[in-house]
Amino acid sequence: MPSSLYQRYRPKKWADLADQTHVKVTLQHEIERGQIAHAYLFVGPRGVGKTTTARLFAKAINCEKREKKSGEPCNSCPSCERIDAQQSFDLIEIDAASHTGVDHVREYILSAAEVQAGHGQYRVFIIDEAHMLSVAAFNAMLKILEEPPAHVIFILATTEAHKVPATIISRCQRFDFKRISPDIIRERLRILADKEKVAVDDEVLSAIAEHAEGSLRDAEGTLGQVFSLGTKKLTMEEASLVIPRSTLGDAAELIALCLRGATPEAIALVNDKVLNGIEMSNFMTDIVVWLRMLLLAKVATQLDLFSQQTIGELRTKAIDQASGTSVEQLQRMIDVFVTRRGMIGQAPIEQLPCELAVVEVCSSSSATKDEPKKEKTKDDDDNKPAPATDKKSDAKVEKESKASSTFQMDEVKTRWQEVLDKVKELNRSLSYVLATALPLGISDGKLEIGVSYPFHQDRIREAKNRLVLAEATKHVFGQPLRVEAVLNESEKFAGSVS
Ligand SMILES: [Zn+2]
Repeated sequence: MPSSLYQRYRPKKWADLADQTHVKVTLQHEIERGQIAHAYLFVGPRGVGKTTTARLFAKAINCEKREKKSGEPCNSCPSCERIDAQQSFDLIEIDAASHTGVDHVREYILSAAEVQAGHGQYRVFIIDEAHMLSVAAFNAMLKILEEPPAHVIFILATTEAHKVPATIISRCQRFDFKRISPDIIRERLRILADKEKVAVDDEVLSAIAEHAEGSLRDAEGTLGQVFSLGTKKLTMEEASLVIPRSTLGDAAELIALCLRGATPEAIALVNDKVLNGIEMSNFMTDIVVWLRMLLLAKVATQLDLFSQQTIGELRTKAIDQASGTSVEQLQRMIDVFVTRRGMIGQAPIEQLPCELAVVEVCSSSSATKDEPKKEKTKDDDDNKPAPATDKKSDAKVEKESKASSTFQMDEVKTRWQEVLDKVKELNRSLSYVLATALPLGISDGKLEIGVSYPFHQDRIREAKNRLVLAEATKHVFGQPLRVEAVLNESEKFAGSVS
């Protein structure tokens, strides 16, 4: 049995093929009517179903029991079974990336094309990465395409159509495959998870779908990696070992600071992200994604371009932030961040390009503060809770937790479950982190809790999570406690368990 999910659950009929509706419908019509071309060109990004479609097509036209006026293969006749088992002589797949020589095309394609198709009606050649063929190989193929044998069909698949000679393209029926939307990818991943009988949080599937950039094959590959963690119930906590955590919320926070011209706070935020192990290239990409959202919200209120999963609660924030800016300002900021992002590889310090971009946009935004923006800033300060920058939230928690040393550890231990319940209410994913943590003791006004993994420690240290913990402890004990996570490797942790 093939090991990867992508191979194991490759669609066996048109109905199972994800998206690409225009391609599916047209090809099925051609099969139903028997109007089949001799050469097809499938163009599109990697992992969107080009080869899968080509195989389905080959199977359907060779199916011995296909119903009249149907484009679907039966999947049970000998021809269908041979193709599924990759044992058919009527379906020949060639990876042009590894067979670029003209000799190969001559010997393999030409000679195979001369032999009559075996059990089925057609002999189908799928040439993957077709743009990799040499000029001579293309010329040899052109000769076949000029006078194609009746039973031979070529399907050229490529990610780079501009590298395929125009003489070849003009003899092909062309289909353009598009990137698959995150929503459709997520649905497909859910089906696979159900088939594999693994319980996975929606949040995990959404994160995978967002990171796949339209490639279903990549998404299924990542899902396979997440499955290999071996847990029966997968949450974002486990999955974050495999999927890079989204920093879009952090990007929104940074831009809010930049728009206020708060340079020191913005620089501090960037450095906090670096300390937390966030990759600067990912972070700067999310900053650009966020700025684009603001721009789209501004010029066309087209936030619908982003799936609900991507934006979620950030949607209102985007509209709000956008209203305090001008199109020109956003354009400028995007330019700065895109340009600086390109410098990450050469910079001696990873966060330097991001810091330079911050300084640049902060200085220009404080110099060009316009009327509506001033109003907005004032409004923000008056009516909304202070933004959760590390500096501010730290100060707030510090101040409020001064009295905490008077607390008895016994009370904390006996009422710890109540704290967990409150945290669960406020932030479900944080409650999973805390589920394995235990209160150890109170020192210097801080409540120490023991955690098992460094990434749990990191999560608890995040500014927004500290605020959640402050609120939860305040709810239970009447006053907020500053919670400090320590790594579970000391004797005292073992002691507190027993
Ligand atoms: Zn069949």
